Amino acid sequence: MTRYTDTTETRQAIIDACRWMNDRGINQGTSGNISVRVPDAILITPSGVPYDRMTPEMIIRLPPEGEPDMGGDLRPSTEWRFHQRLLAARPDMSATVHAHPAHATAVAMQGRPIPACHYMIAAFGGNDVPITPYAMFGSSELAEHVAEAMRNRHGCLMTNHGATVVGESLDRALWRMEELENLARVDLLSRTAGEPVILSDAQIEEVIAAFSNYGPGK
Ligand SMILES: [Zn+2]
Repeated sequence: MTRYTDTTETRQAIIDACRWMNDRGINQGTSGNISVRVPDAILITPSGVPYDRMTPEMIIRLPPEGEPDMGGDLRPSTEWRFHQRLLAARPDMSATVHAHPAHATAVAMQGRPIPACHYMIAAFGGNDVPITPYAMFGSSELAEHVAEAMRNRHGCLMTNHGATVVGESLDRALWRMEELENLARVDLLSRTAGEPVILSDAQIEEVIAAFSNYGPGK
């Protein structure tokens, strides 16, 4: 796991990650949000600031638990609750990335998980990418649902909303988000021509074992 500190470089890496998501078509506008764990705090994107105008000092310091200071000019992402809950529940992870990628959101709008339709599902720690029940954006209820769904998974869909992933590093979280969007895309594409073949639990276990060092740096 990468351990970050609250430096200009870490803050800039969060901004670069936001821009990368938009460049890759993973996110639109400012709907995505990113957080990174640092000592005694969580760094999180501010609410409603276009990524191309975001500067390192605009990144918000969120307490690891409890209510943040809402008195400043900039407020933390409206989804700060689930970022905080997730990082508290997953001490093995350093970063959380949330976005509304088109295909992942399309599956989320069907209110179903992504099954083991491709071996890359193993990048999410199990035999599916689960889905949370619908709850209002920004709500404590949504934070509960996301933390519960990702107790033993590294990503989830959120009904009628979007997708969230965690990473041992920011790069790994971004990698997972791009893989999740691709899994959703091929799942939808495959279903237009019938039912995809679903891999067995044993087949997925085998891939999870092989995946321990797969993907970008931890
Ligand atoms: Zn959202």
